[in-house]
Amino acid sequence: SAIAAIVAGSLRNVPDFPSPGILFKDIGPLIADPVAFAAVIEHWRARHTGRLEVIVGIDARGFIFGAALAHALGTGFVPVRKAGKLPGPTIERSYDLEYGSATLAIQVGAISAGQRAFVVDDVLATGGTAEAACRLVEEVGAEVAGIGIVLELAGLGGRPRLAEWDLETLATA
Ligand code: 5GP
Repeated sequence: SAIAAIVAGSLRNVPDFPSPGILFKDIGPLIADPVAFAAVIEHWRARHTGRLEVIVGIDARGFIFGAALAHALGTGFVPVRKAGKLPGPTIERSYDLEYGSATLAIQVGAISAGQRAFVVDDVLATGGTAEAACRLVEEVGAEVAGIGIVLELAGLGGRPRLAEWDLETLATA
Protein backbone atom coordinates (compact mmCIF):
# COMPACT_ATOMS: atom_id res chain seq x y z
CA SER A 1 0.00 0.00 0.00
CA ALA A 2 1.00 3.66 -0.29
CA ILE A 3 1.30 4.13 3.46
CA ALA A 4 3.43 1.00 3.82
CA ALA A 5 5.82 2.30 1.15
CA ILE A 6 6.06 5.69 2.85
CA VAL A 7 6.82 4.10 6.22
CA ALA A 8 9.30 1.58 4.81
CA GLY A 9 11.01 4.31 2.84
CA SER A 10 11.57 6.57 5.82
CA LEU A 11 13.09 4.15 8.35
CA ARG A 12 16.75 3.75 9.17
CA ASN A 13 18.30 0.39 10.09
CA VAL A 14 20.79 0.69 12.94
CA PRO A 15 22.89 -2.45 13.57
CA ASP A 16 23.92 -3.32 17.12
CA PHE A 17 21.63 -0.83 18.86
CA PRO A 18 20.87 -0.71 21.74
CA SER A 19 23.01 -3.84 22.18
CA PRO A 20 25.14 -6.12 19.96
CA GLY A 21 23.15 -8.29 17.55
CA ILE A 22 20.02 -6.10 17.57
CA LEU A 23 18.97 -4.45 14.30
CA PHE A 24 17.13 -1.36 15.52
CA LYS A 25 14.53 0.29 13.30
CA ASP A 26 14.89 4.04 13.78
CA ILE A 27 11.71 6.01 13.16
CA GLY A 28 13.59 9.31 13.50
CA PRO A 29 13.65 9.99 9.74
CA LEU A 30 9.91 9.30 9.51
CA ILE A 31 8.89 11.89 12.10
CA ALA A 32 11.46 14.39 10.80
CA ASP A 33 9.84 14.19 7.34
CA PRO A 34 6.66 16.33 7.37
CA VAL A 35 5.07 14.42 4.49
CA ALA A 36 5.68 10.96 5.97
CA PHE A 37 4.67 11.98 9.50
CA ALA A 38 1.47 13.60 8.23
CA ALA A 39 0.68 10.54 6.09
CA VAL A 40 0.78 8.25 9.13
CA ILE A 41 -1.45 10.51 11.21
CA GLU A 42 -3.87 11.11 8.32
CA HIS A 43 -4.16 7.36 7.66
CA TRP A 44 -5.39 6.67 11.18
CA ARG A 45 -7.43 9.88 11.42
CA ALA A 46 -9.40 8.95 8.30
CA ARG A 47 -10.05 5.41 9.56
CA HIS A 48 -11.07 6.36 13.08
CA THR A 49 -12.91 9.68 12.94
CA GLY A 50 -15.95 9.46 15.18
CA ARG A 51 -15.17 6.02 16.63
CA LEU A 52 -12.68 6.79 19.37
CA GLU A 53 -12.85 8.65 22.66
CA VAL A 54 -9.24 8.59 23.79
CA ILE A 55 -5.80 7.84 22.37
CA VAL A 56 -3.38 5.95 24.61
CA GLY A 57 0.29 6.39 23.68
CA ILE A 58 3.02 4.04 24.89
CA ASP A 59 6.29 5.41 26.36
CA ALA A 60 8.09 6.95 24.59
CA ARG A 61 7.71 7.03 20.79
CA GLY A 62 4.03 6.14 21.09
CA PHE A 63 3.60 9.60 22.61
CA ILE A 64 4.76 11.23 19.37
CA PHE A 65 2.28 9.46 17.09
CA GLY A 66 -0.44 9.19 19.71
CA ALA A 67 -0.51 12.85 20.68
CA ALA A 68 -0.54 13.97 17.04
CA LEU A 69 -3.39 11.55 16.30
CA ALA A 70 -5.38 12.67 19.34
CA HIS A 71 -5.08 16.27 18.18
CA ALA A 72 -6.15 15.34 14.64
CA LEU A 73 -9.17 13.39 15.92
CA GLY A 74 -10.11 15.89 18.61
CA THR A 75 -9.81 13.32 21.40
CA GLY A 76 -7.81 13.42 24.59
CA PHE A 77 -4.45 11.70 25.03
CA VAL A 78 -3.42 9.44 27.89
CA PRO A 79 0.16 8.18 28.35
CA VAL A 80 1.16 4.69 29.47
CA ARG A 81 4.55 5.31 31.03
CA LYS A 82 7.42 3.36 32.45
CA ALA A 83 6.87 2.83 36.16
CA GLY A 84 7.89 5.66 38.47
CA LYS A 85 7.18 8.52 36.07
CA LEU A 86 3.51 9.27 36.67
CA PRO A 87 2.19 10.83 39.87
CA GLY A 88 -0.35 8.55 41.53
CA PRO A 89 -2.68 6.99 41.95
CA THR A 90 -1.50 4.60 39.24
CA ILE A 91 -1.85 0.95 38.44
CA GLU A 92 1.13 -0.97 37.12
CA ARG A 93 1.74 -4.07 35.08
CA SER A 94 5.02 -5.97 34.63
CA TYR A 95 6.02 -8.20 31.76
CA ASP A 96 9.05 -10.29 30.88
CA LEU A 97 11.79 -9.14 28.56
CA GLU A 98 14.49 -11.34 27.07
CA TYR A 99 16.64 -10.34 30.03
CA GLY A 100 14.71 -9.12 33.06
CA SER A 101 11.37 -7.40 33.09
CA ALA A 102 9.70 -4.04 32.50
CA THR A 103 6.83 -2.30 34.25
CA LEU A 104 4.31 0.10 32.70
CA ALA A 105 1.85 2.34 34.53
CA ILE A 106 -1.34 4.29 33.85
CA GLN A 107 -3.04 6.90 36.00
CA VAL A 108 -6.27 5.80 37.61
CA GLY A 109 -8.99 8.20 36.50
CA ALA A 110 -7.23 9.35 33.33
CA ILE A 111 -9.65 7.25 31.25
CA SER A 112 -13.29 6.86 32.18
CA ALA A 113 -14.83 3.41 32.41
CA GLY A 114 -16.35 2.38 29.09
CA GLN A 115 -14.36 4.81 26.95
CA ARG A 116 -13.21 3.53 23.57
CA ALA A 117 -9.42 3.73 23.49
CA PHE A 118 -6.94 3.33 20.63
CA VAL A 119 -3.48 2.23 21.79
CA VAL A 120 -0.56 3.61 19.76
CA ASP A 121 3.14 2.76 19.52
CA ASP A 122 5.94 2.95 16.96
CA VAL A 123 7.26 -0.61 16.69
CA LEU A 124 5.79 -4.05 17.48
CA ALA A 125 8.34 -6.76 18.31
CA THR A 126 7.33 -9.49 20.81
CA GLY A 127 4.13 -7.67 21.73
CA GLY A 128 4.85 -7.62 25.46
CA THR A 129 4.76 -3.84 25.66
CA ALA A 130 1.52 -3.42 23.73
CA GLU A 131 -0.14 -6.29 25.61
CA ALA A 132 0.73 -4.74 28.97
CA ALA A 133 -0.61 -1.35 27.81
CA CYS A 134 -3.89 -2.90 26.62
CA ARG A 135 -4.34 -4.80 29.88
CA LEU A 136 -3.85 -1.55 31.82
CA VAL A 137 -6.49 0.17 29.68
CA GLU A 138 -8.89 -2.70 30.40
CA GLU A 139 -8.04 -2.71 34.11
CA VAL A 140 -9.23 0.89 34.38
CA GLY A 141 -12.49 -0.24 32.76
CA ALA A 142 -12.01 1.15 29.26
CA GLU A 143 -12.39 -0.68 25.97
CA VAL A 144 -9.45 -1.32 23.64
CA ALA A 145 -11.13 -0.36 20.37
CA GLY A 146 -7.92 -1.04 18.49
CA ILE A 147 -4.14 -0.97 18.48
CA GLY A 148 -2.23 1.13 15.95
CA ILE A 149 1.49 0.47 15.51
CA VAL A 150 3.56 2.03 12.75
CA LEU A 151 5.97 -0.84 12.07
CA GLU A 152 5.51 -4.57 12.71
CA LEU A 153 8.62 -6.72 13.04
CA ALA A 154 7.39 -10.03 11.68
CA GLY A 155 8.18 -13.39 13.22
CA LEU A 156 8.71 -12.22 16.80
CA GLY A 157 5.28 -13.26 18.04
CA GLY A 158 3.76 -9.84 18.47
CA ARG A 159 0.72 -10.32 16.25
CA PRO A 160 -0.45 -13.62 17.79
CA ARG A 161 0.17 -12.22 21.26
CA LEU A 162 -2.28 -9.39 20.53
CA ALA A 163 -4.84 -11.63 18.81
CA GLU A 164 -7.71 -10.67 21.12
CA TRP A 165 -7.59 -7.05 19.90
CA ASP A 166 -7.95 -5.34 16.53
CA LEU A 167 -4.34 -4.67 15.47
CA GLU A 168 -3.45 -2.31 12.63
CA THR A 169 0.17 -1.98 11.58
CA LEU A 170 1.14 0.24 8.68
CA ALA A 171 4.21 -1.62 7.43
CA THR A 172 6.01 -4.88 8.10
CA ALA A 173 9.76 -5.52 8.24
P1 5GP B 1 7.99 -5.56 22.28
O1 5GP B 1 7.44 -5.32 23.65
O2 5GP B 1 6.91 -5.70 21.25
O3 5GP B 1 8.99 -6.69 22.24
O4 5GP B 1 8.85 -4.28 21.90
C1 5GP B 1 8.20 -3.14 21.45
C2 5GP B 1 8.65 -1.94 22.23
O5 5GP B 1 10.06 -1.80 22.15
C3 5GP B 1 8.05 -0.68 21.63
O6 5GP B 1 7.69 0.22 22.66
C4 5GP B 1 9.15 -0.13 20.76
O7 5GP B 1 9.23 1.27 20.85
C5 5GP B 1 10.43 -0.77 21.28
N1 5GP B 1 11.21 -1.39 20.18
C6 5GP B 1 11.60 -2.68 20.07
N2 5GP B 1 12.34 -2.87 18.97
C7 5GP B 1 12.41 -1.68 18.36
C8 5GP B 1 13.04 -1.22 17.15
O8 5GP B 1 13.69 -1.94 16.38
N3 5GP B 1 12.86 0.10 16.85
C9 5GP B 1 12.16 0.93 17.65
N4 5GP B 1 12.02 2.22 17.26
N5 5GP B 1 11.57 0.54 18.79
C10 5GP B 1 11.70 -0.74 19.15
